[in-house]
Amino acid sequence: MLKGKTALVTGSTSGIGLGVALGLARQGANVMLNGFGDVDGAKAQVAALGVKVGYHGADMSKPADIADLMASAEREFGGVDVLVNNAGIQHVAAVEDFPVEKWDAIIAINLSSAFHTTRLAIPGMRAKNWGRVINIASTHGLVASAQKSAYVASKHGVVGFTKAVALETATTGITVNAICPGWVLTPLVQKQIDDRAAREGIPVDKAQTDLLREKQPSLQFVTPEQLGELAVFLCSPAANNVRGAIWNVDGGWAAQ
Ligand code: NAD
Repeated sequence: MLKGKTALVTGSTSGIGLGVALGLARQGANVMLNGFGDVDGAKAQVAALGVKVGYHGADMSKPADIADLMASAEREFGGVDVLVNNAGIQHVAAVEDFPVEKWDAIIAINLSSAFHTTRLAIPGMRAKNWGRVINIASTHGLVASAQKSAYVASKHGVVGFTKAVALETATTGITVNAICPGWVLTPLVQKQIDDRAAREGIPVDKAQTDLLREKQPSLQFVTPEQLGELAVFLCSPAANNVRGAIWNVDGGWAAQ
């Protein structure tokens, strides 16, 4: 379905981003990866699906790096057809103790980076009259949790940004939507489970069960594969008029 198209997935060396990159690659999309850590492992997994793979190590907190990433996608792939804004970080602390540099980093990586990639991708999408922007927000784009002020603010921001750009492109072949995952067992969440186990002096598996019980009625983690399949649907012709949707995949979290 996506043969000949190029997907750029930010923060795609692990977790949800890698799951979405693999889902799009299974449909034949060439993929530009981004992120830190096990770059070679991520590249090998995508390349095994027989598509062209690129990588750019832009730090998504830096607008100049993002401009370079977008220019390199243009050079290597002739532009970006599917933009998945996924890179994100978390920090947990009460607002009065929240480190200022952590606030700035979370807003820059989780929210402002989506503005920079989108503003640079839209002209090419308009020229082709086809494009997909998929923003990985969070249930925290819809509801809050204590100790997560920066993350909740950034994800509510992503939700608002998604709706605004969906309206700006509503008469075109470009759609803009957000996916709001609940708990997904990735390194970002594993850290919170490990911290909870250490803080409460309980085993890690008990901390994991408690985390789910507190928020996610299904008591199951959402998987990167499930999110990848939703991204594939949003790229399909059936989704041509899914615009400005804020789509929960959260085991019922936001229904409470
Ligand atoms: P993860 O830690 O597994 O992956 C984050 C990715 O972003 C990695 O590839 C990492 O290298 C990259 N990254 C981090 N900082 C970066 C930077 N400055 N520049 C470029 N890349 C950077 O986390 P994840 O859980 O897969 O999270 C992916 C997205 O999904 C985030 O936006 C997160 O907020 C969102 N999300 C996660 C969950 C969850 O339960 N895991 C739930 C809802 C939303």
